[in-house]
Amino acid sequence: MSARETTAVAALATGIRNGERPALAGALNLLDDQRDAARELAAGLLALLQSEPAEAGAHLVGITGPPGVGKSTLGGALIKTWRQRGARVGVLAVDPASPVSGGALLGDRLRMHTDGTDDGVFIRSLSSRGHFGGLSAEVWPMTLVMKAAFDIVLIETVGVGQREIDIARLCDTTCFVAQPGSGDSIQALKAGILEVPHILVVNKSDMGAVAERTRTELASALCGEHRDGHWQVPVVATSATRGEGVPELADKIAQHYQALGTTLAGRRRGYQAYWLLCRLRDEFGEHGIARLGGEEALTAQLRAHYTSLIEQHETLRRRLLDGVN
Ligand code: GDP
Repeated sequence: MSARETTAVAALATGIRNGERPALAGALNLLDDQRDAARELAAGLLALLQSEPAEAGAHLVGITGPPGVGKSTLGGALIKTWRQRGARVGVLAVDPASPVSGGALLGDRLRMHTDGTDDGVFIRSLSSRGHFGGLSAEVWPMTLVMKAAFDIVLIETVGVGQREIDIARLCDTTCFVAQPGSGDSIQALKAGILEVPHILVVNKSDMGAVAERTRTELASALCGEHRDGHWQVPVVATSATRGEGVPELADKIAQHYQALGTTLAGRRRGYQAYWLLCRLRDEFGEHGIARLGGEEALTAQLRAHYTSLIEQHETLRRRLLDGVN
């Protein structure tokens, strides 16, 4: 990078840390740009942001669940609660919406539930069309930018597809939102799909008995402690439209963050390692991972080096592209 570019990147990092919207928007666009010159600037920017320890910055909160369950409405209600508590909130809305669905994107629906004039809220939509080749591929680098700027980063996504990056594995606290009376959630829980969330939410509690029944069924289907240990998975009932149960949900989310304690830094190294592994596997396949020492050894190596994400990614890509082992 030239001296001028170095200065520009440093100014961008300062702007992000100050939560300045143009700096944030500029940085997120930069991360999207795959041209060599932009990659170099993005690498410089992330190296600066990652000079902070992994545990620094925002609490990363994931909300996932099937379409129509109320994720956007609940996201909006949570943002309101967090703002009342003084937290600044950044949102990444990752939407696998097909271009033919015709429905409004998750990020746009979320915007409808937030105060557009509030400077303490910033929403960025990502489309995951075309799996890793789509924008959502950049979700972890973008999270690193948002994490430096806010107190809470909310990552909202619709379910998890086979070939998608599992957003739940990039968040400190994951909430799964279930639909009253659907039965799907309990099936998913039994099939092990719902092993990951730290908090289960039954939204639309205003539906009454059916919601209460789903809540008790979910609570009894849970075996209690999360596989991370030291955390009892709660089932929280909310009515996002009425705002009921939302402060309690925000409390549970905060309690989980507290419970993570000193494990946070290690977990975040794990998110980054997972993301890098997904990217490399997507580009080079299982064969590429094997050439880099196999998943276990590579993950251990990636966890040990939290700094300079893009540089690390490029170095590993080069090793594979150049055929050097
Ligand atoms: P998403 O697809 O999961 O983001 O769901 P939305 O937030 O767009 O909500 C889907 C529909 O459910 C909308 O018509 C909402 O008004 C409605 N909805 C969301 N939350 C609640 C709730 O707490 N109670 C009721 N009765 N309806 C809700």
